[in-house]
Amino acid sequence: MTSLSFVQESTLFDFFTDLHRHPETAKEEFRTTEKVRSLLSAHGVRLLDTGLPTGLIAQIGGHRPGPVLALRCDMDALPVAEDSGVPYASEEKGKMHACGHDFHTTAVLGAALLLKEREDALHGTVKVLFQPGEEINYGAEVFLATGLLEDVREYYAIHTCPELENGTLGIRPGPVMAAPDRFSVTLRGRGAHGAQPQNALDPMPAMAALIVGMQTVVSRRMNPFAPAVVSVTHAEAGRTWNVIPDTAFLEGTVRTMTPADRDLAEESLRQMVLHTAASYGCEADFRYLRQSAPLINDEALARFAAETARGLGFAVRPQDDTMIGEDFAIYLERRPGCFIRVGTGGGWPLHHPKFHVDPAALLPTARYLAVLIEKRLSSLSAPEGKG
Ligand SMILES: [Zn+2]
Ligand SMILES: [Zn+2]
Repeated sequence: MTSLSFVQESTLFDFFTDLHRHPETAKEEFRTTEKVRSLLSAHGVRLLDTGLPTGLIAQIGGHRPGPVLALRCDMDALPVAEDSGVPYASEEKGKMHACGHDFHTTAVLGAALLLKEREDALHGTVKVLFQPGEEINYGAEVFLATGLLEDVREYYAIHTCPELENGTLGIRPGPVMAAPDRFSVTLRGRGAHGAQPQNALDPMPAMAALIVGMQTVVSRRMNPFAPAVVSVTHAEAGRTWNVIPDTAFLEGTVRTMTPADRDLAEESLRQMVLHTAASYGCEADFRYLRQSAPLINDEALARFAAETARGLGFAVRPQDDTMIGEDFAIYLERRPGCFIRVGTGGGWPLHHPKFHVDPAALLPTARYLAVLIEKRLSSLSAPEGKG
């Protein structure tokens, strides 16, 4: 089977619908990994030894000198019960490709096989990353930890976009996705009879003050032109009506778009939690967990990706900001790159049970990614592209 026989609308559609019927959640992408592995192997694509149970890194090119670029997709599904109504809906109970990672895997696989056809002409090498565990902030870290990506100069990735139709790409330089950080607060006071507050150090009013007060970190500490979100999403204290509890707990998420805003939000929340707790006579344990960084597209690479897309007849729109996080940002903390939103229509938002994509976008996306990588390798290897 030649690569070109796979990279056709009907075969890409079959591959995609099979992945969609059999979604696998983070770190369990065994079947998906095997499917991708067998197709790449059948086409003679070299696979690197990641030592990981799921996910694959393929390597194409290197016949001519040039830099190493990376093209990354993610493969994991979500614990969501599908209600999309598509004829190839999930057959795995309570699991669904509700973020379109089945689309990413199929389109990037198509691009990899097109690049394999062109291997002799590539001015350098492309490492194609079939990444596990994006939804749990796992895959990028473990892929980087393999040491197989030390020589990568630039990173490229795609994501489905329900707000754009097939034929339109969303590309913009600068910060486009947020750092999806996580925090928790445990307040420790002293419990007592509900009728005897004089014997207590009640953590409840401290918790209530924090739930409301934390919003002022966004409104009073951050620059109003800098997008930021603080959401308290889980609060727990007490068990009954006539006992003041010892402790209270709350947790939530903080979203920021730049490293400086991230530092400011973390420090402002820490101060507020410790001092608010103290003002109610309580102690506070504040934990702030940094997950992936804000996703920041490189200026020149975003321009290159947009020009290449227009050259192939795509409409290009500046992609919308989103306060959702994406672990592709972890690669871009180390090297420049570009995250490209692909118009896949459907209208329903990411992670929604009715989310679905337009499979007609698969083939143009595969072709675009192959052209993008080949052109970028050529331009970096041209005399004016060096340095
Ligand atoms: Zn997602
Ligand atoms: Zn996603």
